[in-house]
Amino acid sequence: MSNTRRGLPLTSSRMEKIFPVLTPAQINRVEAYGQIRAVQSGELLVEQSDTNVPFFVVITGELEIVRPFGAQETLVTVHGPGQFTGEVNTLSGRRSIFRSRVTKTGKVIELGHQQMLGLIQTDAELSDILMRAFILRRVELIAAGVGDIILIGSTYSADTLRIKEFLMRNGHPYSYIDLERDPDVQNLLDSFQTVASDVPVLICRGQVVLRNPGNQQIADCLGFNESIDQTQVRDLVVVGAGPSGLAAAVYGASEGLDVVVLETSSPGGQAGSSSKIENYLGFPTGISGQDLAGRAYIQAQKFGAKMLIARATRIVCDHRPYIVEVENGARIPARTVLIATGAQYRKLPLQNLSQFEGAGIYYGATFVERQLCGGDEVIVVGGGNSAGQAAVFLAQTTKRVHVLVRSASLATSMSRYLIRRIEESPNVTVRPYTEIVTLEGNHHLESVRWRNSQTGQTEKHNIKHIFVMTGADPNTGWLNGCIVLDAKGFINTGPDLSPENLSAAGWSLNRQPYLLETSLPGVFAAGDVRGGSIKRVASSVGEGSSAISFVHKVILE
Ligand SMILES: Cc1cc2nc3c(=O)[nH]c(=O)nc-3n(C[C@H](O)[C@H](O)[C@H](O)COP(=O)(O)OP(=O)(O)OC[C@H]3O[C@@H](n4cnc5c(N)ncnc54)[C@H](O)[C@@H]3O)c2cc1C
Repeated sequence: MSNTRRGLPLTSSRMEKIFPVLTPAQINRVEAYGQIRAVQSGELLVEQSDTNVPFFVVITGELEIVRPFGAQETLVTVHGPGQFTGEVNTLSGRRSIFRSRVTKTGKVIELGHQQMLGLIQTDAELSDILMRAFILRRVELIAAGVGDIILIGSTYSADTLRIKEFLMRNGHPYSYIDLERDPDVQNLLDSFQTVASDVPVLICRGQVVLRNPGNQQIADCLGFNESIDQTQVRDLVVVGAGPSGLAAAVYGASEGLDVVVLETSSPGGQAGSSSKIENYLGFPTGISGQDLAGRAYIQAQKFGAKMLIARATRIVCDHRPYIVEVENGARIPARTVLIATGAQYRKLPLQNLSQFEGAGIYYGATFVERQLCGGDEVIVVGGGNSAGQAAVFLAQTTKRVHVLVRSASLATSMSRYLIRRIEESPNVTVRPYTEIVTLEGNHHLESVRWRNSQTGQTEKHNIKHIFVMTGADPNTGWLNGCIVLDAKGFINTGPDLSPENLSAAGWSLNRQPYLLETSLPGVFAAGDVRGGSIKRVASSVGEGSSAISFVHKVILE
C-alpha cells in the first residue's frame, strides 16, 4: 500500500480490496463515463453532508478523506494515483459522512452520481471492484465506530437499544459511549449542555444534539431522505423493505422501473431480526437476516432504487396515479404500488410488558440483544422456527435457555432440524404447557413468574431476559378500507378475491386481478402481509420478484 498516512485501524489482509489501485486500462474505461479535471492542493472536492456527491479516481496527485467533528478533523484515509473515493453513501446519494480534500496538485476523473451508477450498471469488472470496496469500507467504518454521529446511551435503556438497532440495521457507522461504563462521558454531555437524564443522546456531525430521538428524527438528522424527490410520479412505490419489498426493488429497478421503497425503520423486516437463516437457498452455512438485508439493500441501490425511511400512513385510492401519503408529510404519486408491509410481533398479554420492552423483553435475537444477556439465563417464548433459532443462537453464550411453549411439545410447530439442535444443546430446556404470568423489576426486568397450565403450579425465577417469538399480525391497519382484507386482516389477492369482493370494491376492469393483485387495480401485495402466503424468506422474495412482471403489464395497460 502506498499510503503511509492511513487514518483508520484497518484490517491489513483486506487492504488491496478496500483500497484497490485501478489499472491503466480500467482507468480509461472509467474516463469514458466522466471527465478529467485538474485539481489544486487544498481544494475541497466534497464537504461533509453534501448529497449525491461525485465519484473521483485519482490520476496524479493525492486526496485525503477526513472526518470533521466540530472544529476538529480526523484522517480516515489518503487516495493516491489509481485509487478512488466513495463508500456506500456515494451509491445511495445520501449525505457524505466525510470531507474530501486535494493534498497534492494533480488530475482526477470526476463522475456525477448518475454517471457513476451508469458505470456500475454496465461494466461488470469495475462494478465488482467498486461495489466490493464501498461495502468493505462501510464494514470497516462500522467496526471501527467511525461515523458522523456519537450515541451516548445506557445498557439499561430501552431507547438506547432501539437507536442502536436502527443505526445497525440501516448500516450507519457510529461511535457509542456508555454512561455506565465510561466515567468521562459527563464531560462530553456538559460540552453539549445535556444531562444524564437526557440519555440516549445522539450528536450528529458534532453540531446537532438530539435527546432521545425517534427513528424519523434520526433519519432526518442523517439526511437519509434528502436526496430523493418525493413529488415525482413513480412507476412503483414499494411499501415495506422486508425480503419481499427488497426483492421487488431489486427486480423492478434492474428491469428499468423507477422504484421508491418506503420503510418505517430499517431494511430487513422480520428477517432482519433473525440471527441465522439456514433454509434460504444458496447459503449452506446460513446467513444472518441483517447480512441478507444489507446485501439486498445495496443491490437495489446499485440498480437505482431509492429508499425513504418513513412510514406510509395512507393510500389515496380514488384516482390514478395513486398517492401514498407518508408520515413525514410527503405525498408520493405512484402508477403502481406493492404492499409488502409484512407482519409485526405479537405481544404477551401482560399488564406491565411495555415497561420492560428493550429492558429485558426483546422481539429479535441478534448479536445486539445477545450481548446484553452476557452469560445469564434467558427465556424464549414460542414454539415456532423463530423461537427455535433464537434458542439455539442464545444457547451458545448464555448459561441456560428455557423455551416456554403453551402446547405439549415443539413437534407440530417447529422444523425437525431445529428440534434436533435443541435436543442436542445441553443448556436448553423445553417447558411445555408453560406461560409467563408476571414480570417484576424497576428499570430493567429482574424476575419472572411462570405457570404450568397442566399442574396449575407457578414458579418464580430471577431471569432478566425474555425473547418473545410468538408469531405476528399483519401490518394492514394503515390501508384505511381501500383494499379487501380477509377475516384476520391479511390482504386478499388474485384468485382469492371472490366476485362479491370485486363488485363491493368497485373493480372496473374487464380482466380479473393478476395473481398478486389486490382489489385495487395496479396495487399488489407480496409476502407475509398477503392472505395465504407461506411465511418464509424464500417465498416472500419469490412473491416480491414475481409481482414485477404484473407491474410491467399494468403500466402497459
Ligand atoms: C426472528 C425470526 C426468524 C425468522 N427466521 C426465518 C428463517 O430462518 N427462514 C425463513 O424462511 N423465514 C424466517 N422467518 C420468517 C421471515 O422472516 C418472514 O416470512 C419474512 O421476513 C417476511 O417478509 P416480508 O417482506 O413479507 O415482511 P416483513 O419481513 O415483515 O417486512 C415488512 C417491512 O415493512 C415495514 N413496514 C410495515 N408497515 C409499514 C408502513 N406503514 N410503512 C413503511 N414500512 C412499513 C416493516 O418495518 C418491515 O421492515 C423469521 C421470522 C422471524 C421474526
